[in-house]
Amino acid sequence: MVSEQIARRGIVDEPVLQAMSEVPRHLFIPPELRQAAYQDRPLPIGYRQTISQPYIVGLMTQMLHLNGSESVLEIGTGSGYQAAILAQLAAKVHTIERYAALSAAARQVIQGLGIRNVSFHVGDGSLGLAEYAPFEAILVTAGAPSVPKMLLDQLSERGRLVIPVGKWTGQSLERWRRTPAGFEHEAVAPVAFVPLVGKAGWESVDDENENAPD
Ligand code: SAM
Repeated sequence: MVSEQIARRGIVDEPVLQAMSEVPRHLFIPPELRQAAYQDRPLPIGYRQTISQPYIVGLMTQMLHLNGSESVLEIGTGSGYQAAILAQLAAKVHTIERYAALSAAARQVIQGLGIRNVSFHVGDGSLGLAEYAPFEAILVTAGAPSVPKMLLDQLSERGRLVIPVGKWTGQSLERWRRTPAGFEHEAVAPVAFVPLVGKAGWESVDDENENAPD
C-alpha cells in the first residue's frame, strides 16, 4: 500500500512513509471489512463515520512537518489510525472524538499496539482543547464550514493547522501557519470528509441517529 499507492502519489516524507509502513491499518477496521484494509480508500467504522483514505492520511501528516518534538491535537479520533501515525512522529498526541464508543475502541487498539503517547478525549473538538494548548500542530479530520478561530488561538508560535474547509459534501484541504505577523494559509487539495459537528462546526442534522453504529 505504502510504496504503490502512497509514495507514488507524491508523499515523499520518509518518516511519514515509515510510520505508515509500521502501523497495521487492518486493526483499526471492522473485521468484516479487513480484506480491504490496504486499499487506498476510506472505509466505514460505524456511527456513519469513516477511517480516512491512506493517501489523505499521508498527505495531511506530511503537511504538518513534524520533527518528533511536538505536542499535536487531532480532532476526530474515529478509528484511531491517524492518531497512531501521529504518535510515531510527535512527542505527544491529544485526540478528541464526539462519539465515546469510537474513542473507547480506538484507545483499545492503540494501547494494544503498545503506543503510550496518545491521550483520548471525548467531546466537541471544534473548540479545540484549551487546557492542553498551545499545540505545535493541529489536525482536523472532519470537514468544517470555516476555520474555527479557537483552533488558531491554540497554535504555538509557528504552529500549523491542517483542516478541510468548505461545504458539507466537499472541502478544500487548507494549511494555516502562525507567523510573527499573524497567520498565513494555503489551499492544497480538494477533499471530501464527513462533517465536523459542533459549536464551531456544522449543526447536528435532525434525522441523525447518534447511537446507531452502521
Ligand atoms: N482520524 C480518523 C481515523 O484515523 O480513523 C478519521 C476520522 S473521521 C473521517 C471524522 C471523525 O470526526 C468522526 O469519527 C467524527 O465522529 C468526528 N467528529 C466530527 N465532529 C467532531 C467534533 N466536533 N469533535 C470531535 N470529533 C468530531
